[in-house]
Parts: sequence; structure tokens; C-alpha cells
Amino acid sequence: MKADGPGSLAYARVALARPLDPLTYYIPESMSDQIHVGALVEVPLREERVPGIVVEIIDKPDGKYKLKPLARRLSPEFKVERPLIELARWLADYYFCSLGEALACMSMIGFNDLASRTRTALALRDPEHWLAVSRECAPDGRATTPTQRRVIDALLAEANRPLTAVELREAASVSAAVAERMLAHGWLVAHDEEVLRADGYPEPDAPAIPPTLTARQQATLDEVLVPLRAGDYQTFLLHGVTGSGKTEIYLRAIEETLRGGRTAIVLVPEIALTPQTVETFRRRLGSLVGIYHSQLSLGQKFDLWKSIRDGRVRVVVGARSALFAPLPALGVVIVDEEHESSYKQDDAPRYHARDMAVLRALREGAVAILGSATPSAESLHNAREGKYRLLRLPDRIGPHAPPSMHVVDLKRHWREGQLESADGGMLSPPLREAIALRLERREQVMLLLNRRGFASQTVCLGCGKITFCPDCDVPMTWHKSAERLLCHWCGQRTPLPKNCPECGKDEMQTLGQGTQRIEETLAAAFPTASVLRIDADSMRRKGAFLTAWEKINRHEVDIILGTQMIAKGLHLERVTLVGVVSADFALFMPDFRAAERTFSLLTQMAGRAGRGAIAGEVIVQTFMPQHYAIDCAARLAEESFFERELRYRRMLRFPPYGRLVGLVLSGADENQVRERAFQLGGLLKPLAYKPQYKGIRVLGPTPAPLARLQGKYRWRLLARGDRPGPLHALLREGLTALERFGRASSVSLTVDVDPCDLL
Ligand code: ADP
Ligand code: ZN
Repeated sequence: MKADGPGSLAYARVALARPLDPLTYYIPESMSDQIHVGALVEVPLREERVPGIVVEIIDKPDGKYKLKPLARRLSPEFKVERPLIELARWLADYYFCSLGEALACMSMIGFNDLASRTRTALALRDPEHWLAVSRECAPDGRATTPTQRRVIDALLAEANRPLTAVELREAASVSAAVAERMLAHGWLVAHDEEVLRADGYPEPDAPAIPPTLTARQQATLDEVLVPLRAGDYQTFLLHGVTGSGKTEIYLRAIEETLRGGRTAIVLVPEIALTPQTVETFRRRLGSLVGIYHSQLSLGQKFDLWKSIRDGRVRVVVGARSALFAPLPALGVVIVDEEHESSYKQDDAPRYHARDMAVLRALREGAVAILGSATPSAESLHNAREGKYRLLRLPDRIGPHAPPSMHVVDLKRHWREGQLESADGGMLSPPLREAIALRLERREQVMLLLNRRGFASQTVCLGCGKITFCPDCDVPMTWHKSAERLLCHWCGQRTPLPKNCPECGKDEMQTLGQGTQRIEETLAAAFPTASVLRIDADSMRRKGAFLTAWEKINRHEVDIILGTQMIAKGLHLERVTLVGVVSADFALFMPDFRAAERTFSLLTQMAGRAGRGAIAGEVIVQTFMPQHYAIDCAARLAEESFFERELRYRRMLRFPPYGRLVGLVLSGADENQVRERAFQLGGLLKPLAYKPQYKGIRVLGPTPAPLARLQGKYRWRLLARGDRPGPLHALLREGLTALERFGRASSVSLTVDVDPCDLL
């Protein structure tokens, strides 16, 4: 047999992070013992070399094309295990992406990051990669040039510890090339084997002593333990008010899982991954807990990945994609705050981590626990249908009574001239008084306003024109501290024009409210109070949240003001008043989930009040006190809210009573976008008349609610069906037909299965 020729017998199907089916390559003889399913390889694709994952080894290639060889294997230590490849197949199929795209998104470390991980290259490119002097390097002997000398001195004499590539360049004032040559000689080594980077969270205090479970918790846990011990799949919906001790159930279930030799994953929304959350798990489960989120550096991701592989980490706590942690023998997957829409990824592949969690549990014979104080309509529906088992914790632990809720009708206060502005009212007299009372009693106050910035709009009082982002169909938000108008969609900033660009008059006025404006109002109304603003702007710096959290804990803050970032995961005993400055923002969103979101945000916020010894109070300001989402939240009437909500959904055949797939076409040329949208509509609509697609409706095309974003025009179609199978089949048929019309390179199409918002 010819060495390295195509005469060798095996071929590999390789999935690339591209919208392509896996491609077939032949395996050169010299590589035959290195290539297996799950291996990371590099393959030629046109003029490029791209990384990919081997998903299948075959004896006979399907086509008659001349096949190219695999270029090389990358990162021999890296491997994707079969169950995750199978999960990726499912994800790709359901969410309309390629297998490679699914694998790339599921891999905790990006393909390209992995690919660049040939030792020398990576050590220098990754600023956090550690370098050390190798044992082979005799300090006085071979390293003769003065620059090399400086490198060694910096490492051995001055720092006496490994340095990152960046630190080293600084300390020895040498170029990257010097260090690179020394690495190539083996005088320096990449030190990643020995140095484990900390993940940035503080060391936990002493281990926590588990509390004795309440009878209710015990009964709940007992139910979970049955399938858990038997190794059977089961999904539980744990519906428990905030403070009912759900976390304790999670911890016990995990402890039992570990005792059985299995592993666990805990998903929390990214913004709830607070130091407090991490500490809760670390204090009970110690160093078996690994933390995963998107902000980890490449080095930290590698550390975690290796710790998982070596079995040192057996519980992964993290945001959305932590679901794909390559833990073997998975025993339990927990999705906390399962109703959160941030579990839906908002770029391709647009998967829903909660739904994928249930699927992973099913495939691996694990237990899934979906926990929430305000479960999603979908999960409640699944529980009613018997797909999930419902567990309830209706009471808070300990003496805390539920908070008392008051709704303030802003219309009334506006008519009585008690508000300083009509558009949200800021602080009504009842809210002001309640804040004053808490300040006097040295208690803490939390205020929610779900919009950052200073003013939501700027308008010209001369001609009435609102300033829009030049590229997006949204008004620009005035950020006073930065003195800029900011587009919250594309991030574009411009100064506030002095004169109206339209009519030239100098009567530009900022309107509406944002967290920065309230901050000013509070400073004026309560000059001695210390106010801390928590939103995406003030928390941008790394570690800002940790600092804020410590300040709050030391009671250096009287009023915590923030966006929904403060609604999750903060357990603050001194907060006795929660004020919702405006409950109306979320209600006006053109989305069928608007009411559900509002209800759930209000309920979550209410859960922040009175978690200590003193009973809490919640004040909700609104222009629509009669709206059922607000009214039910205020009366803590969850049952009636969902009765009503589910009735509407059933009437409209919206989820959970039907499935939706959103199709958005976008491009710079509006005519082309519209044309393509009608082309697609013209293909899909007749298909819906076929008998096998009975009951499917294709709506649109129409301009999307945000008709222009980042300079691109957007048109939308919506397909709705009762069951996912036929709906997917119809779409596949339609999309294949669209391809046959030829590609429209200037119009892109995104397919969003089970969309979470319809903007
Ligand atoms: P949830 O996750 O449902 O919001 P937590 O699990 O945070 O509720 O519990 C609220 C508080 O009650 C926490 O401080 C927790 O330590 C405490 N707690 C939970 N279970 C018990 C128990 N059985 N006995 C005493 N305290 C408990
Ligand atoms: Zn914009």
C-alpha cells in the first residue's frame, strides 16, 4: 500500500463550524492511529485550512469526487465524546443549523482557539498563558544573548514565578520573537500544566453546615431521589416561591448524585451567576465545583476543561452553554430560574438551554430539575400534560411572611399634579414616603427600572421629531454621564445635537426615564442617602459586581437602583422595600409573552423584599393597574394569572399550544429583502395545503417590529403549527426550494425555532 496515498482504507467525515454538512476526507496512513470519532482535526477547504471535529469514520466515501486528505490532528488531548456528538446532531436538526455549527457552539472552547493551541503559538498569543523556565535550560550555559539572559533573569531572579507572556515581555523588555525562539529551543515551557488559574471567585468561607430540611422539602427531595437513585430519566418542575429553599433541594440532589459516582450540571442565568451563588455551591460541594461562563479567559476555560476530564471537577455551575460540559456519567441537570429568556441563545444556533437540558437528561438517563418561582407557561403546560412532574414549595422558609404589595396608579397622581413628568412619573408620593421611612429605620431599599441610560428618547419641541439611531429602527437613549446618545441595539454613540437636524430649532429635549435619571432624582430627594446604580453601564468593569455586592453587604449603600440585573439571585436581608418605578415597559413590547414577562419580573422583584427578620413591602408604579399581569402579581394570584394567560394562548394557538418558527430576512437593500421574503412566503404558503401539513399556518411576510437594525432592513415570516415534526418538515421543504431559486447573497435568512421574542 502506498504510504499516505488515498489507497488507505479509512475516511473521516468532518464537521466544520460552517453552514455545511460534514465533509469527507481520507485519512493518511501516517495518521490512521490518531484519528477517531471526536478528534479535532484540521482540513483543507478551498484555499483555507479550517478546524473541525471527526464525526464518523467510514470505509467507503459516498461521492465519486476526488477526496483530499486530512491535514493534521490538532490538540491531541481534546476529544468530543459520542453522547455530545449525538446531542449536537439533534440540536442541529431541530434548530436548523449544521452539525459543525452545533458542535462549535457546544464546545466549551472555540474550535479556533483549540486549533491555535499548538504550544508555542498559543503561549504567546494568549496573554494569560503562563511561561516558565524549563528544566533543560541551564541558566548560565546556553542562553547567551543579553536579551535571552534578561528573560531568564526576569523569570528566575526577579519574579521567581511563571509569568504570562505579556508580563514577561514587559518585565524583560523583549519582543515576542525572543520568547518564541526560546520556546522553540525548549528553554522556556508553557506552564499551563502546573499552574491552574483561579476562576476569579473568592475562596469560600468555612464549609456550610446543611440545615435540617423542612417536612415539605424532605417530601420534595424524596420524590427526586427515586429516579435519581434508579438512574432513570425524569424531569421535575420545582415551583417554589423565592426563599422557599429550592437551592437546598438542588444541593441535596447533587450530593446524592456524587455519592452515586455521577456528575451534575447547574444552569443559572448569566446575571444570576453572582459571587453569592458561587459561594453557596462551593461551601457545600467544595472544589468539585467548576464555574463556567462566557467571560472566562481562554486559559481559564482550558483549566476547567482539564479539571473535568481528569475528574477533579464533577459539578459544573454556569450560564447557558455550561449545559454542554463534557461531564461523564451525568446524574442530574438543574436549570434554575427556568423561565428566563436568557436561556435562549440569540444568535445561531438559536437553541434553548432549558429544552436542551431536558433532552440531555433524557438521552443520558439523568434527572432534570427545572426550578422557578414563576415557571414559564411552557413548563407549566408540560407539567399539566404529565411530561414533567410538578413539585411545589409554596411557603418561604422561616418566619418571613410574604411581602405586602401595593400598586400605585400613576394616572391618579399625575392628574393630581404630584408627578414631575408624565412619562413614567419617577417617584410618586407613596413611594417617596416609603423610601424615607426605610432610610430613617436604616433599612435598605431596592428600586427597579428596567431601562438604563438617562432618558429613553430625545425629541425636538420645534418639530416633534424623535432622534432615531441612523442604522436601527429604535430611538436613541440619552446617557448623561457619557454625554452621548446611545443605540442600545448596535452600540452606536453620537453627541446630542444642539439644533434639531430636521428643523434646525434649538429645542432638543430629553424625555422618558432611565436608571441614570432616577439616580439624580434620588440624590435630590434624599441627599444623605447613598445610592448605588447597578446596570450594564455601571457594571461593565470586571469585578464591578463583586465590589458592589460587598458594599451592599457592609450596608454602605441605602438604595440599590438597577435594571433587571438586580432581580435575580440577590439575597439581601436588610432590604425591606422594593419599588418598581415602572411596571409598564415590558407590557408594551409587541410580543405575545409581554404579560408573562411582566408578571414574572414583578413576582421576582417581590421575592427580593423582606428576606430577613422584618416583613417586606413592595410598591409597583404603573399607568395600568387594571392589567391582569400587574393585578395578579400584586395579589400574588399566580393561579389566576396563568389560567387567564393560558386561555389566551390556547385561543391564539400560541405556545405552549402550538409551535412557532420565526424566519427573518435581512439585508442592506430593502427591495431585495422584501422580494426574497415574498419569494419564501410564496413557497411556504402553498405547502401548508398539503394534507401532511394540515393545521400549519404561515403568517407574513411583514416588516419585522424592529424593521431596521444596524443598517439592515428586516422582514419576517412566522410559521405556526401544532406539532414540531410536520412544521419542521414543511420548512425544510420550503427552504430547500428557496435554495433552488439561487442564493441571494445580499439577503441573509435566520431561522428561529421556538423564538423567545418576536422583535
Ligand atoms: P430559593 O432558592 O427557593 O429562593 P433558598 O434556597 O435561597 O430559596 O432558601 C432561602 C433561605 O433559606 C436560604 O438562606 C437558605 O439557606 C435557607 N434555608 C433553606 N432550607 C432551609 C432549612 N431547611 N432550614 C433552614 N434554613 C433553610
Ligand atoms: Zn443602532
